[in-house]
Amino acid sequence: MQDSKDMRTASSNRWPSSAALLWVMHLFQPNDDDHRHDDSRQLQRIRRYGRACLIPCAYVLALLALLLTGQLAWSVFLQACTLLLFGCGAFALCLFSGLNLRAPDKTLTAPMAVSMLAMMSWTLFVAPGTLVLFGPFALLITMASAFRLREKTLFAVVLFALAGNIFSQLLYFSITHDTAILMAGLSHCSALAITLPGFVMLATRVRRLYRSLYMVSVKMENIEEHARRDELTGSFNRRYMMAALQQQKHLADSTDQELCLAVIDLDHFKRINDEIGHLAGDEVLRTFAKLAQHSVRREDVFGRYGGEEFLLLLPGIALQSAFSTVERIRAMTENRLGIIAKVERKVTVSIGLTQYIPGESVLDLFARADMAMYLAKTSGRNQVVLQEAVEQRD
Ligand code: GH3
Ligand code: MG
Ligand code: MG
Repeated sequence: MQDSKDMRTASSNRWPSSAALLWVMHLFQPNDDDHRHDDSRQLQRIRRYGRACLIPCAYVLALLALLLTGQLAWSVFLQACTLLLFGCGAFALCLFSGLNLRAPDKTLTAPMAVSMLAMMSWTLFVAPGTLVLFGPFALLITMASAFRLREKTLFAVVLFALAGNIFSQLLYFSITHDTAILMAGLSHCSALAITLPGFVMLATRVRRLYRSLYMVSVKMENIEEHARRDELTGSFNRRYMMAALQQQKHLADSTDQELCLAVIDLDHFKRINDEIGHLAGDEVLRTFAKLAQHSVRREDVFGRYGGEEFLLLLPGIALQSAFSTVERIRAMTENRLGIIAKVERKVTVSIGLTQYIPGESVLDLFARADMAMYLAKTSGRNQVVLQEAVEQRD
């Protein structure tokens, strides 16, 4: 059964395809040991960069609106697009080549924010009509950077935005001496200077909230994981196994797929405990759980029912195939468990195996497997007894 970690990995492997991104990354870093790094974190950074590129795209759209309404010249629009393309390409190159790994902030958030703001300031200088875009986009960049940057760095980015705005307006004024445009620009800039610090504080609080939520979700996941694990062996516990059995029964009912259940009981475990002590007995249980877990498929569900009794759910295979699996577990226990767990005597298991009859209750299925295990005990132990399912029809 796929556990939550696998599910998380699966859900993070959405578009753009990780394989394709990895391939492109390795094109830039062919087998170079110096450039080896944690692929998955770098992939995350590249994905985040892909989302950050939406801001320049939105800016181009806004410029297009100004162009279409006659407030921007074609030449300025094309220059701005070229600059944005160049900037985006340069950052993409840094990320795909792994150059970003040498920077203190590997996400390159601050340089990205600053270069976008510099580009906006330049556009403001050559086309004062873009003043209407400066405020909203400066806020958007601040918000997007707030999740990655510390408060001080964020303030520095905001100061850069204000300085860029004032500088380009003064430069424009020094050339045109247009006081009306300067006054309009400065009043806009003062409004920005008043609101941006408040925005930084709010964004920082949102970031803290987001981080604490993330920590809580990690803790919750750990608690959930603990709640379904058996403390001694680390395999699934009784509660989880019974829930999984119920879930597999429903799956078998709805999809018509086969389902087998094995009850596994260590033989003469009381004697083993008496001979080697309870703590060493615990070690035998732990070792058995590890060995058994490694002998089953990913989709099989193995867990401790209680004491020295274990359950194994084998979905999607017929009784004969399930028999091969549990027989392998039996033989491996007989041949290796005692040696690995450093017990002088042989440790063996008795296994009862049966198959789900569509429509029957979980209790009936369990009782049949348990009965088969009991027969294995009474027939001499260290064996698998297979209880064929006899389908009863009205
Ligand atoms: P059988 O072959 O008929 O199953 O004999 P058995 O001795 O294995 O069965 P019995 O039910 O008589 O005894 C089970 C023993 O398992 C008794 C108990 O002390 C031991 N046991 C149960 N849980 C644990 C545990 O967590 N650790 C250790 N070390 N022993 C345990
Ligand atoms: Mg036993
Ligand atoms: Mg028992």
